[in-house]
Amino acid sequence: MNKFEQLGLNESLLKAILDLGFENPSEVQEKAIPLLLEKDTDMVALAQTGTGKTAAFGFPLIQKIDADNRNTQALVLSPTRELCLQITNELKNYSKYEKGINVVAVYGGASITEQAREIKRGAQIIVATPGRMQDMINRGLVNIKSIDYCVLDEADEMLNMGFYEDIVSILSDTPDEKSTWLFSATMPQEVARIAKQFMSEPLEITVGTKNSGSATVSHEFYLVNARDRYEALKRLADANPDIFSVVFCRTKRDTQAIAEKLIEDGYSAAALHGDLSQAQRDGVMKSFRGRQIQMLVATDVAARGIDVDNVTHVVNYQLPDEIETYNHRSGRTGRAGKLGTSIVIVTKSELRKISSIERIIKQKFEEKSIPSGIEICEIQLLHLANKIKDTEVDHEIDNYLPAINNVLEDLSKEELIKKMVSVEFNRFITYYKKNRDISVQSSNERRERGDSEPREFNNNGAVRYFVNIGSRDNFDWMTLKDYLKETLELGRDDVFKVDVKEGFSFFNTDPEHTDKVMDILNNVQLEGRRINVEISKNDGGGRRDHNNRGGRRDSGRRDGNFAPRREGSGGGFRSDRSSAPRREGSGGGFRSERNSAPREGGFRRSEGSSDRAPRRSESFGDSPRPRRPRRD
Ligand code: AMP
Repeated sequence: MNKFEQLGLNESLLKAILDLGFENPSEVQEKAIPLLLEKDTDMVALAQTGTGKTAAFGFPLIQKIDADNRNTQALVLSPTRELCLQITNELKNYSKYEKGINVVAVYGGASITEQAREIKRGAQIIVATPGRMQDMINRGLVNIKSIDYCVLDEADEMLNMGFYEDIVSILSDTPDEKSTWLFSATMPQEVARIAKQFMSEPLEITVGTKNSGSATVSHEFYLVNARDRYEALKRLADANPDIFSVVFCRTKRDTQAIAEKLIEDGYSAAALHGDLSQAQRDGVMKSFRGRQIQMLVATDVAARGIDVDNVTHVVNYQLPDEIETYNHRSGRTGRAGKLGTSIVIVTKSELRKISSIERIIKQKFEEKSIPSGIEICEIQLLHLANKIKDTEVDHEIDNYLPAINNVLEDLSKEELIKKMVSVEFNRFITYYKKNRDISVQSSNERRERGDSEPREFNNNGAVRYFVNIGSRDNFDWMTLKDYLKETLELGRDDVFKVDVKEGFSFFNTDPEHTDKVMDILNNVQLEGRRINVEISKNDGGGRRDHNNRGGRRDSGRRDGNFAPRREGSGGGFRSDRSSAPRREGSGGGFRSERNSAPREGGFRRSEGSSDRAPRRSESFGDSPRPRRPRRD
């Protein structure tokens, strides 16, 4: 018997579960399903988004519905149209082997008469947003007077969005003896009030800690000067070539403006806010789900209920006015057991908000520095090298090889590699060479990292290294710094600016330690794997000692060892990508918004003026679909 069978689910559901590929019930499913199946009861379930709660109520609901009775028996209320459609879809999937069950979605922005017609045909389950549901009740288009089950999904979000009165009014239209199942990530007073008013002796289940952020999300903040906020966003995107993110702004205007700027600078971005038409919003969401958009810039309201798997980063471009909202934002990543990162770009005057958020989410933030141009170039360069390595060759190209060989035959392998990489890369380097670093460290971080004053490694004479160990070897900057100091027998402040990435890290020492670093570290093994360290950059007084590393490495090894890990190969991607609509066409919603923005040649222009980031569409835009490597 598998674990789903043990929960008491019937054959047709088990079959559907098999099709869905769910192997084991999630915690909320394990806790809720047997209770809900066993008897008719009210229930309050505190569970974050992404924990599998749709199935936690969906499976029992479908099992309990009488498929032979065409009357409406269950109402599921959800905060947004997006979520409403998602739940409807899931319920349809769950009930695919259960004959005669009809699930209808009811939401604003679509024809109310068509929805009413569908209900009339017989919908045992209605999934609705509160506003449209209230509208339908007012117009007498729906009858929920004899439902048996009512589910309030993401109750806190619905109340946050101002649906309190609609919910109260809708619930008042339902019979007292029904079962009410309330799912919420948090339990603010308003939710507790609804529970008290409309539920009787509800069973309570909690998944994770009440009000805490998801354990699968790590939290980072980057301190910047206010004028550098946008530049910081771009750098964070550049330093994470596989980013697939939701970027939160406070206002619709900022949301639109930031998305437009990103698009203009060549990123695959789009805006999502309340001023877009429903069709535009649908277009944007479709493109985001299809990964044609890497950065979805959204307001809190518009992004509520977005349930897209594999979002790698949530970026708080600005912190929300209500600190509690942070939890909802960060819940867009780290879903379904995947790991995610929630980033806050913060100015000095907002720093105290970080501590308030830490108290709410009961998790600590890690303070990080905005990557310097050099670091970004290195990351992108390796990303590119990996992409080349992973690209599957279409043998059509063989026909052209003799001609190509003719042109390139005088170049050595090394020259050829350099030139190939430069084709894509020169513009990037040119851009970052001309732009100052923007990192600001809080005095706290400087103290902890052992930096006496803010260091910018371009001009302080220190030597920057690149080493092939990182967070996947269980290091953070503190533990790596300790490890390096110990291994190299260096003093307290001799290793600084340690920046840990997933598969590799950077750190600095003064030039006098370089020989030691190269000699010792390159001969050390970590759990059977050879450590490989390289000088990352000649920093003013530092030196670049190619001989030192030349004997020890070959470029293949470096690629393999230093590259950020990726799932899957980039090979398939290229062809995906080329057939996919390019950014210009993606997200129907945004294109019409910004018809005057320069599309073509923008990068070339920026090359001339060089005050604009390189267009990723021409340099790294077609990087592999941002599927974040799991940090496990
Ligand atoms: P939810 O919290 O309902 O929004 O679910 C988040 C995601 O987890 C959805 O993509 C579900 O399809 C998926 N999911 C739900 N239950 C399971 C399970 N038992 N095993 C694997 N994935 C699941």
